[in-house]
Amino acid sequence: MAALYGGRHRWKRINCLHIFSRKLTGKYDYDLLVIGGGSGGLACSKEAAQLGQKVAVLDYVEPSAKGTKWGLGGTCVNVGCIPKKLMHQAALLGTAVKDAKKYGWQIPDTISHDWPTMAEAIQNHVKSLNWGHRVQLQDKKVKYMNLKGSLVDEHTVRGLSKAGKETVLTAKNIVIATGGRPKYPTNIPGAAEHGITSDDIFWLKKSPGKTLVVGASYVALECAGFLKGIGLDTTVMVRSIALRGFDQQMASLVTDYMEAHGTRFAWKSVPNRVDKLSSGALQVTWTDTQTGSEHKDTFDSVLWAVGRAPETKALGLDKLGVQLNKETGKIVVGPDESTSVPNIYAFGDIGEGRPELTPTAIKAGKLLAHRLAGQSTELMNYDNVPTTVFTPLEYSCVGLSEEEAEKRHGKDGIEIYHAFYKPLEFTVAERDASQCYIKVVCEQGGNGKILGLHFTGPNAGEVAQGFAMGFQCGATYSHLIQTVGIHPTCAEEVVKVHITKRSGLDATVTGC
Ligand code: FAD
Ligand code: NAP
Repeated sequence: MAALYGGRHRWKRINCLHIFSRKLTGKYDYDLLVIGGGSGGLACSKEAAQLGQKVAVLDYVEPSAKGTKWGLGGTCVNVGCIPKKLMHQAALLGTAVKDAKKYGWQIPDTISHDWPTMAEAIQNHVKSLNWGHRVQLQDKKVKYMNLKGSLVDEHTVRGLSKAGKETVLTAKNIVIATGGRPKYPTNIPGAAEHGITSDDIFWLKKSPGKTLVVGASYVALECAGFLKGIGLDTTVMVRSIALRGFDQQMASLVTDYMEAHGTRFAWKSVPNRVDKLSSGALQVTWTDTQTGSEHKDTFDSVLWAVGRAPETKALGLDKLGVQLNKETGKIVVGPDESTSVPNIYAFGDIGEGRPELTPTAIKAGKLLAHRLAGQSTELMNYDNVPTTVFTPLEYSCVGLSEEEAEKRHGKDGIEIYHAFYKPLEFTVAERDASQCYIKVVCEQGGNGKILGLHFTGPNAGEVAQGFAMGFQCGATYSHLIQTVGIHPTCAEEVVKVHITKRSGLDATVTGC
């Protein structure tokens, strides 16, 4: 305690001196100070340095409730996109090995997966990325400090090291890119004590075993997808609907595929408590809200994937009057990423209303760096952001869902072209393609401006990326059907869609 108070007094003294000298000289330590070295913060700081700005970035990882910690690079690199996509790949390889037998590969009847081998390889790759980020910052002359940042005033940040050492830094502009962390439910006994989150799953040294995944959005379905894919008994507990905000027909195809391939779903169910039995197993009690009946089962792991909370606690935003959205706790930002306090900007997952995606954080960070360096006035365009859900059957989309298009344009104001197709690679492998589907939502009349494009199938992200550019250019249905396909691919099925949903005709693609 004494050391803490001593530290605070020392800090106050240093801080006053710092602010005083700054007011006398009008100079700052840095042109730009970024708090948060994740997807957005790193992109913004490196871009600003390239433009000749003097830049520092502070990154600090608070260990998860289970004690998991990681290095520089933020959520995507350490506990998000990268380890997730690699575990998804591990699962896809399992399916490919099964397919391979039909293609003539001699493979033993029973194959098994070894978690430690996968985890170690992925964790080593992530560690190499941590190192790569440090080297890049050094090369680009960005000063990196492993400090937890908090705001003192609109030009001053206090950094706190793990050992409790304080550093005060000043900058002309301050950018907050501190992202978010997974939430635990607050009212479920045993939830935090016995459960893990996406901050832990990728860093486990041994297999999570039979797993209950609570939640039904991106994180839940993607994690459940790869867990089942590598052979683990996996259940998803859904309290309302899957993939809220996405086209619900597409969401059903995603979960139908998962169910057909062995993932269990506890639909319309909410957990009540988690108890650790003397055997070490976790007993979960839940209620089926449709029937009111109570159920119990035991699991080796319970993974909470019930959403993320913005990481604002340590920042001291209230003292400066930085406006937050009361409901979400995120920072209220303008189109130029400005906050309610001059010289303080925020973007990425911490920004209210921003998509929680890495490419948007990176792009917004780079554009902000250009504007702060006085090199451009270009704003980030958050419209038409494409995305992929990396479930066992991948789902990509850009633009409006059918429901949203109908809401905005009316049922008669839209035309939907659709197709159920069979990927060529599924044929020899004798795989069921019932959920491989394409839906193109267009404006009714004229050239049929495309309002939304949806695709489930192999490599969905690779298929959708190019179409997203067409979408950005204002593509119409006429453009789509004038486009020549690349044969034989799944993507070519998109440029061939011609059956309207309204017609009620069979939308199954037959022949080439
Ligand atoms: P982050 O990347 O979260 O970085 C914030 C950094 O700031 C962190 O390192 C944090 O420790 C640090 N920090 C916090 N507070 C302080 C402080 N006071 N001082 C100093 N440092 C601090 N997006 C995709 O586009 N594709 C995907 O496939 C995808 N998969 C995902 C899978 C999972 C499981 C999860 C959880 C997310 C996924 N995302 C994906 C989302 C993506 O990871 C985020 O949108 C992205 O990382 C946001 O970047 P950011 O810069 O806003 O924040
Ligand atoms: P999310 O989209 O906020 O979804 C939270 C899920 O948990 C919802 O299904 C919600 O159900 C459920 N839930 C919330 N509280 C619950 C409770 N107490 N009990 C049971 N269920 C509960 O969160 P997320 O999946 O963590 O994703 C966060 C963001 O990360 C996403 O928006 C996305 O942008 C990003 N991300 C992207 C990717 C990608 O690009 N592939 C992958 C992962 C994450 P209700 O619908 O009933 O509220």
